[in-house]
Amino acid sequence: MKIICVGRNYRAHAEELGNAVPEVPVIFCKPDSALLPPRNPFVIPPWTQDVHHEIEWVVRISKVGKYIEPRFAHHYIDAMTVGLDFTARDLQSELKSKGLPWERAKGFDGSAVLGTWSDLPETTQPHHIRLEKNGTTVQEGSTADFLTPIEDLIAFVSQYFTLKKGDVLFTGTPAGVGPVAPGDRLEGFLNGESRLRVNIR
Ligand code: ZN
Repeated sequence: MKIICVGRNYRAHAEELGNAVPEVPVIFCKPDSALLPPRNPFVIPPWTQDVHHEIEWVVRISKVGKYIEPRFAHHYIDAMTVGLDFTARDLQSELKSKGLPWERAKGFDGSAVLGTWSDLPETTQPHHIRLEKNGTTVQEGSTADFLTPIEDLIAFVSQYFTLKKGDVLFTGTPAGVGPVAPGDRLEGFLNGESRLRVNIR
């Protein structure tokens, strides 16, 4: 499976990192080795001093597709959850400043955390995502605020990458990203329901 991610899909988050709001979606991938096994703690790697949490709405691809039209995109996703796109912000900033790819800062072991899945509702409706750090809300967003809606993301991504059953799409993080430290407890919510818990070591 592949893990496809969208960067800067919420205006307020693009602005908090001093990034321009993109004209086309910013896309990157994580290898499948980035998946944190269920119930494992997230261990901060020794080579970074600034790992940030990014809570995101995540959808799962249900069948193979390429050059998918937006109006058919909903046929290609069948489940949703929240996920964490852990980011070594110090390394990412260094790579960005040199115009280099972000993979080491975004695709390292354990950097992708998935919550428990549920069926995607038939009707298009906004979904609310929220992240608590040590019991306090630090990030909150709605899919209604996407710069690029899910149908257009699926269409865009499938022009470049054949989507396959079981692939997952992280759809970008709302404002409020910030560092994690050993001992922190993160809990992610989808539409008010707890879907993901991870302890930081
Ligand atoms: Zn992200």
